[in-house]
Amino acid sequence: MFSISGKTRIVGIIGCPVSHSMSPAMQNAAMTSCNLDFVYVPFAVAPERLGEAVAGLRSLGVHGFNVTIPHKTAIVDFLDLLDKSAEDAGAVNTVLNDNGRLIGFNTDGAGLLRSLADDLDYIPGSGSIVLIGAGGAARGAVAALCQTEVPRIIIVNRTLDTALALQKEMINRFPEKVIEVVEKNRLNCDFLSSSSLLINTTSIGMNSDRIDFLDLSKLAKSAKVYDMVYSPAISPLLYDASGKGHKVANGLGMLAAQGELAFNIWTGRNPPQGLMKRVLETLTTT
Ligand code: NAP
Repeated sequence: MFSISGKTRIVGIIGCPVSHSMSPAMQNAAMTSCNLDFVYVPFAVAPERLGEAVAGLRSLGVHGFNVTIPHKTAIVDFLDLLDKSAEDAGAVNTVLNDNGRLIGFNTDGAGLLRSLADDLDYIPGSGSIVLIGAGGAARGAVAALCQTEVPRIIIVNRTLDTALALQKEMINRFPEKVIEVVEKNRLNCDFLSSSSLLINTTSIGMNSDRIDFLDLSKLAKSAKVYDMVYSPAISPLLYDASGKGHKVANGLGMLAAQGELAFNIWTGRNPPQGLMKRVLETLTTT
């Protein structure tokens, strides 16, 4: 058990809602295991109070924090500096308070790549990737994937304009990559059959709902399927895809990996290998 003293450093997570977050459990377990005098706490922050909350965290000397739905892009305006990972993505999921200077990072993208390798045995290479969604999580994913060998990324989103805005930004940043946007009613034409990976970056599936514009029978038989949703552990997308013989993984590995990277940014240490993922697995099976 850790005890709180006058020297304890505070880190945490801001989001709305945040009460469901599993980050406090995995981060506190890692901090205790490393004997660090840190504590990680959740802060519920309504969208209209984001600026006020960030100013408060800064003046209270909170050492760092994670950023989750719906603040990942809006927070950029309240920070002093962006690390390249956050600048590339245009989204922040981790903030370090460096003596009053707030620096934004994006560990979602690197976390995704780590989880694709570990959980799906997928290293982006010659095949196209279809990515569903264009929100904060999609930004980190596209920016990280653009820094791999992947030749072509196809984005499809409920709101076309959001996808087009993301495409424009990413093409400016990574002009050598082919980044296409497909209207959702055209996804099932030939884009799915020529892809090696399908990634869901939306919240569809959290309520056991299905991606109504996706016809999995059109997906290449050898394609793998990744769902950033981790609760439920087997989303309808993963259930349907594994039933059709696709190799699948949920977002638990990414959640652990982005957390490990954030932990390193705040503490300069690496948590014990696999600890965060084991904590998450315990939480999702109880
Ligand atoms: P966000 O910025 O609010 O974006 C939400 C995305 O989901 C948008 O593309 C939105 O489309 C789409 N969407 C939401 N509800 C929809 C619906 N009913 N039908 C069709 N599309 C819908 O959120 P985010 O930060 O990107 O997070 C998205 C999901 O990723 C969440 O479930 C989050 O828990 C998960 N995530 C997981 C990890 C991990 O480590 N595993 C990390 C980050 C995020 P519109 O543009 O049309 O609104």
